[in-house]
Amino acid sequence: MESPAPEKPCDYHGRVSKLSIPVLLGIPFDGQSSYLRGTGDAPGKIRQALRSDASNTWTELGTDIAGAYEDAGDLKLDEKNAFSAIESGIGSLLDAGKRPVSLGGDHSITFPIVKAFAKRYTDLTIFHFDAHPDLYDEFEGNRLSHACPFARIMEAGLAKRLVQVGIRTATGHQREQAERFGVEVVDMLNLPASDKLISSGPVYVSFDMDVLDPAFAPGVSHREPGGMSVRQAISNLHAIDATVVGADLVEYNPVQDVAGLTATVAAKILKELLGRMLERG
Ligand code: MN
Ligand code: MN
Repeated sequence: MESPAPEKPCDYHGRVSKLSIPVLLGIPFDGQSSYLRGTGDAPGKIRQALRSDASNTWTELGTDIAGAYEDAGDLKLDEKNAFSAIESGIGSLLDAGKRPVSLGGDHSITFPIVKAFAKRYTDLTIFHFDAHPDLYDEFEGNRLSHACPFARIMEAGLAKRLVQVGIRTATGHQREQAERFGVEVVDMLNLPASDKLISSGPVYVSFDMDVLDPAFAPGVSHREPGGMSVRQAISNLHAIDATVVGADLVEYNPVQDVAGLTATVAAKILKELLGRMLERG
């Protein structure tokens, strides 16, 4: 006798039921970082900070995240086949009806992650927080660099909309790329971004820790002054008016951190992001 088909908690068309639980997945990969290695050690440190007794499990908006998310551990990766392993790891979590929240890793991982999402969501919107547009066609001859993921995503048509928030390093080339791909850019100069952070369809959030000012988050590979305060970042996350079907938190680099401060900030961002997913899921 055939066993009954499993209940589908998520129909892949933007309607996500309450059963769709966020699940953490560590992606210990820094093989496409152009300047410094070290982000591969981030996932464990972020988890440790999230679970620290120094704080509690309640978000600022009044959601208790304790027991409201799962943890799938870290992906086992070898550098050669990392991207296909990331795509299939995320794909399995999506097929199990979950909402993957990846802990990176350098920002190159967002390309294979979004590939997995795009196979299941045809109308994905991405909200991308970053000091950098990451839209280079190639960087130092490398098209898979952490400086390029959003060029790959947009040229493959994997997202219907890309909204970039907190940008403050765009080159002429990257501005042309943004125009070519129809990217909606809210430069750091023009915050807040609340009127852009709205979608009636499914949303993926990609949060690069260097969107924060290095005074708040020194533990990143590319420190870019003039960035968001933690308060501004949280306000922008709270402003998201959409169903968030997945997310990543990338570019935390423990090698550059000072007394674990940035790990604490990453955990705070993660908590508020999980809260937003649960409140709107
Ligand atoms: Mn980035
Ligand atoms: Mn960046």
